Amino acid sequence: MTTSQSKGASMSTGNRSVLVMVDSREAAARRDLIHGLFAALRFWGVPHEVWDAADGFPSPPAHFRSRALYVLGHDGVGQRLQETLAQQIAAAVQGGAGWLSFDRRVDSWPVALRELAPPTRRDGLATRLSLPTEAGGAHFINSGHDATAAWELMAALPVTQLPGLVQAGWQPLLLAGGEPVLACRQLGAGRAVFWGLSLMLYREDVWGHGRFLDGLLWRSLVWAAAKPFAMRAIPPYVTARVDDCHGAYSAFGYVDAFKRHGIAPNLGLFIDELGPTDWAAVSQRYRAHEADFSMHAFRDDFYKARPDWRPYAVLADKPDLSHGGRETLFAGLSLDHDSGEALPLAQIAENVVRMDKAFAAAGIRHSKIINAHYGEVGYPVIPAFLARGACFLCNNTVPGQLYANQPMWSPAPYGLRGNNGRPGVIIDRSPAHPELFFSSVGYPPYAGQSGGADILNGHVPFLGEAAAVRKDAAIARGVSNVLRSLDMMCWAVIMTHEERIDVISLDDWDEIIAGVVAGARRGWDLIPASRELVSVIARRLSTTALNRVDVLSDGRLQCELTGQSDGPSPLMVWLNEGEDCRRVYLDLPALDGFFRSEPMPVPSC
Ligand SMILES: [Zn+2]
Repeated sequence: MTTSQSKGASMSTGNRSVLVMVDSREAAARRDLIHGLFAALRFWGVPHEVWDAADGFPSPPAHFRSRALYVLGHDGVGQRLQETLAQQIAAAVQGGAGWLSFDRRVDSWPVALRELAPPTRRDGLATRLSLPTEAGGAHFINSGHDATAAWELMAALPVTQLPGLVQAGWQPLLLAGGEPVLACRQLGAGRAVFWGLSLMLYREDVWGHGRFLDGLLWRSLVWAAAKPFAMRAIPPYVTARVDDCHGAYSAFGYVDAFKRHGIAPNLGLFIDELGPTDWAAVSQRYRAHEADFSMHAFRDDFYKARPDWRPYAVLADKPDLSHGGRETLFAGLSLDHDSGEALPLAQIAENVVRMDKAFAAAGIRHSKIINAHYGEVGYPVIPAFLARGACFLCNNTVPGQLYANQPMWSPAPYGLRGNNGRPGVIIDRSPAHPELFFSSVGYPPYAGQSGGADILNGHVPFLGEAAAVRKDAAIARGVSNVLRSLDMMCWAVIMTHEERIDVISLDDWDEIIAGVVAGARRGWDLIPASRELVSVIARRLSTTALNRVDVLSDGRLQCELTGQSDGPSPLMVWLNEGEDCRRVYLDLPALDGFFRSEPMPVPSC
């Protein structure tokens, strides 16, 4: 294959948006497009427009001119293009634009487009997807996985097999039953990607989003698109959260394991369970921006009543609220954990005063993140949280009710719901209040796939969960969770509960966190981050839209956005590097309605 793009082509000027060609009269295809592709384009902040063959209003030739990428959205849409238009698009691809096809009916395409598809195709059925194992099978589009990774589909997926690719100058990227079903090639100064799979892949009863195969989609798009290619996706942040916190035996010394890697976790506090040494550590770590702190509950020390609870050590000045485990208690802020009813309003008001006093005594403000034990937030306390600047829900539960029985809703980006009845990832407004914003990333099991957010759960000697510390298993779950997030262009959360850190040595804990970060860093350009800041950035990206990007004749970028945001946020810009792609970032300012940037030089590293 050709591995370099000419300088002239890579610097070509004009509109760098994506044009998706559809025929919206095809109802089944439209359903798959909306869930499979357009939800993703919105989530990734990709500037895009549509050409709809169903629409009789004439589209001027300019609508097809100067795009970063042309996408045939589904089977049968290619044949709707007139020959002159097809020639215009084929010439644009030769000149440096990208081409991505989900239309397998190549024989019905206008002649000018057929060179943009692999020459030989036949119908097949896929039940299992895997990566090419021969030398040279690795590529930007199929990267981010172990070479031996394979995915058993929930239902057989009709595919188009692509034999004889290599002889025709195409590179196989994904196999189904040993036959290539996804391929790419350089074409002139442009790049083409052909999906023998349809967007049916992202139906939840076939495979679905958020399960390690979203990367194939965004990487296809990014690789093919003319560069520089800008989008408003969430950068590959890796952050952390620890629940049920009172400092453990180390007075939050375990935060150092995150700090070493540049990660600042959110810590959900059981505020009555901290002693003076713990509070002093809270103040110090807050001032050093090493963590942000949320009210989790007053206390929940149930495990102290268990004969098999054996902390690694105990700090001398911890309060003994349970009198040696005889009187354990769950005391929450706003919701009755037994009935699911909100606590009496007067008691909630009192509780909020008590919470404020504890945070004020430590000289800290409450995190912008609401991190409640069991995610249980009573409706009456919402205004109090908002008044304290806490507006980001990080748990996978809606306010107003107990942990279980989550409502049926379809939050952005994909309406993910695990096999345990809990949403997987929610980056959306809360149904409870327009100013509450869900920025919740979880790792539930999905059909046929295991899951679990807490990387230590089952791997440390907490209440007999494991006989000894299973570092490798904890690291493996952590790495898998991080990669699951990064593959879907979301941020990743290294999560656990402090009572499990409390039963292992700081050395073991350090090794686990170092192992997770190192494992995820292999093959990924991750960015260590603060949990609170990630939520702030995620909302800024979510409440703004990148509508247009132009590359000027001197190579600088100019972009236009609409929306509202309360501070700066990143623009992700992709560049080609040989056959590979890499991303750089530009900072955009706060938005108030409409914004057109000055021409911006693209950073080179
Ligand atoms: Zn909790």
